[in-house]
Amino acid sequence: MPYVMIANKKCTGCHMCELACSAWHEGAYRPSVARLHIEVNPTTTVIRGHTCLQTACAKCEEVCPTGAIERHSIVVRAVGLDEVEGWVLRVNEDLCTNCGSCYEVCPQEVIHEHPDRPVAYKCDLCDGTPQCVAFCQNPHVLAVDVRQSKTEKVPATV
Ligand code: SF4
Ligand code: SF4
Repeated sequence: MPYVMIANKKCTGCHMCELACSAWHEGAYRPSVARLHIEVNPTTTVIRGHTCLQTACAKCEEVCPTGAIERHSIVVRAVGLDEVEGWVLRVNEDLCTNCGSCYEVCPQEVIHEHPDRPVAYKCDLCDGTPQCVAFCQNPHVLAVDVRQSKTEKVPATV
């Protein structure tokens, strides 16, 4: 299943991916609402990238009481990569009650309450053209990875 992965040791912490992500989703350069986060330790300068693992994780989907986390089929096209078909987890805002259950279980800390409206928001792989991968200045830092989920399920939504 496709998801964006970060090679932490090669990342320079420039945050270009966050700018590209927020511009795509929010129409503004607003890194605080990017769907991925680059955490730079101010003391050690060690970098940790936070990205959604999509259906290779799916903890948000498992705990959501309203079925607001939906699976959709997707074809991902990224620089230097053959097309990858798979599934992506998206928030259906009409079903989300902002209960917060998914915020608590996310191991990557990449699903949150949107600051402008009371719903969850997360990475949706930009409908198949992940902007973080496209705009990363170092082509070896961000990439789309394909791994089989431990618990692949029959998709609820196509
Ligand atoms: S905040 Fe929304 S998406 Fe998250 S578990 Fe609650 S209802 Fe589901
Ligand atoms: S948002 Fe978090 S819990 Fe949901 S699939 Fe992505 S990494 Fe897993």
